[in-house]
Amino acid sequence: MIQPFYLMFCLLVREQCRALVPFSIRRNSCLGAGHVGAFRVHEYRGARLAARAPAPGDDGPSETPTAGMLEELKQQEAKLALMLASVRRQKLAVLRARPLSIGIVGFGRFGQFIAKSFAKHGRVIGSSRGDYSHIADELGVTFIPLSDLESLVVKEDLDVIVLAVSIVSFEDTVKALVPHLQKRMEIKGNDSCPLIVDVASVKEHPRNILLENLPEECDICCTHPMFGPDSAQNGWNGLTFVYEKTRINKVVSGVGREEPTSGIQTEGKEDHHDGKAGGIIFDDCDAYVEGADRVERFLSIWEEEGCRMTPMSCRDHDTYAANSQFITHLVGRVLGAQGLSSTPIDTKGFESVLKLIKNTNADSFDLFYGLYKYNRNSGYTIGSLREALDDVVGELLRRDGVVGVFNSGNRRNTNHLE
Ligand code: NAP
Repeated sequence: MIQPFYLMFCLLVREQCRALVPFSIRRNSCLGAGHVGAFRVHEYRGARLAARAPAPGDDGPSETPTAGMLEELKQQEAKLALMLASVRRQKLAVLRARPLSIGIVGFGRFGQFIAKSFAKHGRVIGSSRGDYSHIADELGVTFIPLSDLESLVVKEDLDVIVLAVSIVSFEDTVKALVPHLQKRMEIKGNDSCPLIVDVASVKEHPRNILLENLPEECDICCTHPMFGPDSAQNGWNGLTFVYEKTRINKVVSGVGREEPTSGIQTEGKEDHHDGKAGGIIFDDCDAYVEGADRVERFLSIWEEEGCRMTPMSCRDHDTYAANSQFITHLVGRVLGAQGLSSTPIDTKGFESVLKLIKNTNADSFDLFYGLYKYNRNSGYTIGSLREALDDVVGELLRRDGVVGVFNSGNRRNTNHLE
């Protein structure tokens, strides 16, 4: 079991190294023989170990490990840990050398929450219908009212615009943004469009809206931080961040899509997630490299804050989310609607129930409605919950010898003292 662990560790270091190597170097040299930052990759013994390690899933070598092997492995582990720490320092230096300027459209509960962390990594401008200028001041963020989108989009030199509005207002917000993006491109050139990022809690809906409405020159990254102001009170470390690099330099990610959406790609370009479109490689140009770099710098902010980075298609996200996030909100709302409250004899389990009610009901009803309305799987989730409730209650009735449907009127309410 030692060697698979080392294989994973070495692969991790190799991925870190790949992230660091300039694209041009990577293309011209084999990673195994080239320079990676300050290191020569062929010099570290971990790579040799990885080369002779079994494939993931194998149980390891059949022969018994020899004496001294553990010691050798520990030394290699220590070297790799040093190397990893150095790579991370260099990565951070690269990130800090070119800080992003980020606009956040929708400066409500979640917009403010992410602005606080973004402000540590770059210049941040918030924008909303309501006046949140005093809160922005406290967060060290500039505030521009949403009524002045022109100033935000055309005058400010933003690298990224994050859309943090409610799911239900997402489409209207994108449509309002488009003329300003077009104006910016008319004035500053087609390559001046900021990267557009969404953080909505459903993913297929915003993806489709963005692809259908934004100028094709705008790069798109669809994301969902699987946490919020309540669940991430103590920081983002270890929390899941889902993302899909939806479009870079006109190349649309095909992951999770049944077929290309007509009208999205320019002539001759087909939907493809590996940077190839219509037989032409679109990632082999400066514009693609610049676009990809900007996405990486944005993602690095979440990575630096400790998030568990999880690439995933929007479609897969919605399938998983219906039976995890949506059902959590649904149950929290249903239990909340029962009016449950603390008793003098609360168990730990009931404390968790009350916490669930508090957390889910702290989010706006717009958010809950958006989870239901714009995730095609949510209706199925509601149906399954109903069926499961009937099954469980039916089991109780059968034990009681009762045939028929449970009637709340035939039971005393035991939750309140009389
Ligand atoms: P929300 O109720 O989903 O959205 C509130 C935000 O939407 C406010 O900024 C509000 O601006 C804006 N808004 C509402 N209606 C609008 C309209 N017609 N036109 C323009 N803006 C409008 O609550 P939220 O928690 O802040 O969530 C924002 C986004 O983040 C959602 O897409 C949500 O799915 C996503 N998200 C939330 C969480 C979370 O834990 N809360 C976690 C991950 C992702 P004003 O206040 O200025 O009216």
